Amino acid sequence: MAPPLAPDVPPPSPADYRHLLKPTPLGWPRLNHWCVWIEPGASEGPAALWDGRWRQAVDGALASWQQNLPITVVADTARAQVQLLRRRPPVQNKRASHGRATLTLVEVRRGEPGQPAGPWQIEPQVTVQLSPGQGLQAMQATALHELGHAFGLWGHSDQPGDALAAIPGSQPVLELSSRDRATLRWLQAQPGLAAPGVATPATVTPAAVPPAAGPAPAAPGAN
Ligand SMILES: [Zn+2]
Repeated sequence: MAPPLAPDVPPPSPADYRHLLKPTPLGWPRLNHWCVWIEPGASEGPAALWDGRWRQAVDGALASWQQNLPITVVADTARAQVQLLRRRPPVQNKRASHGRATLTLVEVRRGEPGQPAGPWQIEPQVTVQLSPGQGLQAMQATALHELGHAFGLWGHSDQPGDALAAIPGSQPVLELSSRDRATLRWLQAQPGLAAPGVATPATVTPAAVPPAAGPAPAAPGAN
């Protein structure tokens, strides 16, 4: 079965980095509203301090995104499109990193309890692995970057002051830049994912989207 045509990569705009984003074969992996599940940490004992710092970094990064995008933190993993895990990503392609986001497209049926289930629809599902082994600011910058991938920015900015910078600058970026926000606004105005005609409920398309080829290509989500 031939997949539908992926949307074209847009022409560059001076105010953002939309042209460096990659769509999936089924379209732009964006949603009007995201549900995020965050791995719970220890509430007492020696681990509580470290888990608490990790959570503080995550909450700080999430707050920046929440100013620009409807995001709900949920307690039920089944409701979440984004799962944030407190672990160091395994080494991949001989590259170690403190954060990694991985995208899968799944076909789901959403509905409220007691209501008829909605139609089958394609949804992005993202796993973010975020290492607890950094200083607070570095962790928050990594979380801000990886969450950008999770919310559909599958690509990297070419400027170091952006949260989604391919090559981080000397200062950790703790808030979204105007270019990050402009890129997100552009993305949110695009059509979302579309089902490829008649599909079975079990359809799962691995769609980790590599950035454009270049020197030292960073895996999506590698910081
Ligand atoms: Zn990245």
